[in-house]
Amino acid sequence: MILKIVIMGPAGSGKGTMSDLIKDNYPVKHISSGSMFRDEIKQNTPLGQKVNSYLTQGILVPDDVTIELVRNRLSQEDCQNGYLLDGFPRSLVQAKAIEDLGINVVINLTIDEQLLVDRIVYRRLCEDCKTIYNIKLNPLKDEEHCEKCGGKLYQRSDDTYEKLMVRLESYLEETQPVIDYYREKGIVYDVDAGQSVEDVYKQIDEILTKIMEERI
Ligand SMILES: [Zn+2]
Repeated sequence: MILKIVIMGPAGSGKGTMSDLIKDNYPVKHISSGSMFRDEIKQNTPLGQKVNSYLTQGILVPDDVTIELVRNRLSQEDCQNGYLLDGFPRSLVQAKAIEDLGINVVINLTIDEQLLVDRIVYRRLCEDCKTIYNIKLNPLKDEEHCEKCGGKLYQRSDDTYEKLMVRLESYLEETQPVIDYYREKGIVYDVDAGQSVEDVYKQIDEILTKIMEERI
């Protein structure tokens, strides 16, 4: 069976890492909504110009524009052996608009709220070499300076508890209808993203292998 995957998970669930592992090990093209928008803008297509005008105004790209973009993208040659959608669908309208494409697996990365807080709120970055640390999960002797280059460590302004909670709530609110919709189709696989990278991927690998081996 050709894999038509949707991956979902809040920021901090390791969705990017898992997407990379999936695309490296399975015949799927990784289509993230963010990079799709950026490509379209770069190519300066009429749709790209539309997207750019929304983004520069700070307006959410409307469903119909996003849907058209995704459908165009998925019809291209490099998606014919399978794909991995990341950041789409984000609403029930979007999910229903691609119903005919036959998404056959939804990887839903779930994570314990406290662990997500630990991963995000205690994250620190080196100003100079950009190394990422976590001062709670992997304590440093000196929480102010980079172990590699001595650069000053800082916290991203989005990494505060308050901002994380706002993002998490809006993520859950937005994606719940989409997950419910796919769950009714029996294609949602919940994966606990609080485990190690190896263990999370092992679980995903088993799911995808099983689905790929199924007949159409
Ligand atoms: Zn450094």
